[in-house]
Amino acid sequence: MTDLAIFRTVADLRSALQGWRSKGDRIALVPTMGFLHQGHLSLIHLARQYAERVIVSIFVNPTQFGPTEDLSRYPRDPEGDRAKCLSAGADATFEPPPEEIYLPDAQTWVEVSELTRPLCGSSRPTHFRGVTTVVAKLFLIVGPDVAVFGEKDFQQLRTLQQMTRDLFFPIQIVPGPLVREPDGLAMSSRNAYLSPEERSSALCLSQALRLARSLFAQGQTSPHDLLRAVKDLLLSTPFVELDYIEFRSPRDLLLVETSLAPDDRLFLAVKIGRTRLIDNAPLSGPSTLDASKRAEIQWRRS
Ligand code: AMP
Repeated sequence: MTDLAIFRTVADLRSALQGWRSKGDRIALVPTMGFLHQGHLSLIHLARQYAERVIVSIFVNPTQFGPTEDLSRYPRDPEGDRAKCLSAGADATFEPPPEEIYLPDAQTWVEVSELTRPLCGSSRPTHFRGVTTVVAKLFLIVGPDVAVFGEKDFQQLRTLQQMTRDLFFPIQIVPGPLVREPDGLAMSSRNAYLSPEERSSALCLSQALRLARSLFAQGQTSPHDLLRAVKDLLLSTPFVELDYIEFRSPRDLLLVETSLAPDDRLFLAVKIGRTRLIDNAPLSGPSTLDASKRAEIQWRRS
């Protein structure tokens, strides 16, 4: 196993990239906010399949947090993250301080309009503007051939695909499947906030997605009926406060109000105590909600 290179400045990273590119190496970028788990590592493994060099950015991006959100207490573990990146096969991390990415006199934002309005955009109005701005900067700093993003943050993935297309970034966006704990909970750095009791309540998200998939498989296509069933399940769980439960189309994220189709996805956001969690799944087709699919991804990792 070779060493992991650690870069903190744009200049140092760019000079290493120049060397790699001159040898003809393709570059993959995996943007993260650190406190890495198997979900992130699966994206690094996926990135390896597309490029000779994999760079993981670890940057807790201040502009995607609202004024009352968890920026200052967001969990961090730089040493642990580097060990995980190395063992997952990354070549380098990019760990800039905030002032390296946001110059004091910066005035430029990148914004995607329609896709960022519903779902997380309605309760976190400045969130996606922060995400698209930082990812556009990372794209311009690194100039990767490929960038990998998880389906865990499906609205973010769609938004970044749209940005890449609209701004003609010559970058292939590769989606990575949502990785879950063995009991179904979607892996998230924010799971670290949960008390043991809240952790068991958090299972209601994956249970709700499974319930919707199984009702749909039994022939129920009314969004109204499925929403009622899902809502009942979530509201009967301790500590749960609802943010949204919505069926939307996978491409344009349009609300489905009449009849559900197999590709439509259920999007969930709930607060469990003080911790906001999101999850999503298509109504039909392969999903890591099925134990066999989880095992397959586990197998691919090892
Ligand atoms: P974050 O560090 O939360 O900003 O996430 C960095 C990247 O990892 C994003 O592309 C996320 O969608 C992805 N990610 C986070 N959790 C998971 C998961 N459980 N499965 C797959 N990808 C994930």
